[in-house]
Amino acid sequence: MARKQKKNSDIEKEIKKIVGKRVKVNELVKKHTTFRVGGPVDYLIKVTGVEELRGIVCLLDRNNIGCKIIGMGSNILVKDKGLSGALLKLEGTFDRIQVIGEKVIVGAGVPLPVLIKKCVDYGLQGTEFLSGIPGTVGGAIVMNAGTGKQAIGDLIEEVEIFQQNGKINLLHKKELTFGYRKNNFLKKDIILKTKLSLKKGNKNDILSMIKNNLQKRVQTQPLNFSNAGCIFKNPGKKNRLTAGGLIERAGLKGIKKGKAQISTKHANFIVNLKGAQARDILFLINKIKREVNKMFGIKLRMEIEVWE
Ligand SMILES: Cc1cc2nc3c(=O)[nH]c(=O)nc-3n(C[C@H](O)[C@H](O)[C@H](O)COP(=O)(O)OP(=O)(O)OC[C@H]3O[C@@H](n4cnc5c(N)ncnc54)[C@H](O)[C@@H]3O)c2cc1C
Repeated sequence: MARKQKKNSDIEKEIKKIVGKRVKVNELVKKHTTFRVGGPVDYLIKVTGVEELRGIVCLLDRNNIGCKIIGMGSNILVKDKGLSGALLKLEGTFDRIQVIGEKVIVGAGVPLPVLIKKCVDYGLQGTEFLSGIPGTVGGAIVMNAGTGKQAIGDLIEEVEIFQQNGKINLLHKKELTFGYRKNNFLKKDIILKTKLSLKKGNKNDILSMIKNNLQKRVQTQPLNFSNAGCIFKNPGKKNRLTAGGLIERAGLKGIKKGKAQISTKHANFIVNLKGAQARDILFLINKIKREVNKMFGIKLRMEIEVWE
């Protein structure tokens, strides 16, 4: 995030002119991440519509204040010293879901569990594999979130984005390319909404698929502790190597640093045993990278983003 020139109560006033009380100054980011880790950010701003978003982005840009979008904060690690600049949360019109036949138009701020519930209500099949992923639709598109077999990109027909130049652009399927936990079409754009293509299905079948998926997660993931899902991407499709398997074989499962621990249940998760600091988690991340590289000659790539 770009450093801003100076902190200024005038800027706070100007932000308030646009979003009223929906700005918090020096807000602890740990309150907004699933890791429950992260120091203060200068401004945390809840934005409820496109005009507000435009106003805030222009204001921040004019004042050389960096900004990022935060969804559910379920794929980020924010350092203890916090962030300078602004974090924007999309709410209001970005939380809408519209169902038209087998198409669902869904705002970027909608949590995936809310989207899945809506699809169940309408007997629409296709989003079940996303159950148990605690992100927003926007965050899921950025990460092309999913499982080994399916990812959200498979369902997407269109994505509406707010570009850095303030223009809104509707991208169609042929312009959208997704990869393993990544997309290749976003630059510094903000996702506003998307259109998903689903299929009519049997409500009970859909519910039982969701239940199965959630049960599998409870069995295999350390869900009773704060975490950010898988820390590393799986290194190779060919030999089916998993990051978790390599970390386990390197003998690192269960290792602790402060209140952070490499999960004893799933070695690609680091858990916060209440009170972990980002630096403890980073220590474990670096240890994993070093040891796995030393033992197997494999450089693990991060799935989570580290923000500072
Ligand atoms: C228990 C657990 C299980 C998980 N399981 C899975 C899994 O099975 N599969 C999987 O893929 N992931 C999984 N994750 C990781 C995570 O939930 C996903 O990556 C999710 O899609 C992140 O969404 P988010 O809203 O939390 O994004 P955030 O973590 O808030 O942000 C992630 C990135 O997206 C950007 N972003 C968010 N919204 C927007 C927007 N509207 N426009 C532009 N950029 C935006 C942020 O700036 C950031 O770069 C898991 C996490 C947890 C904690």
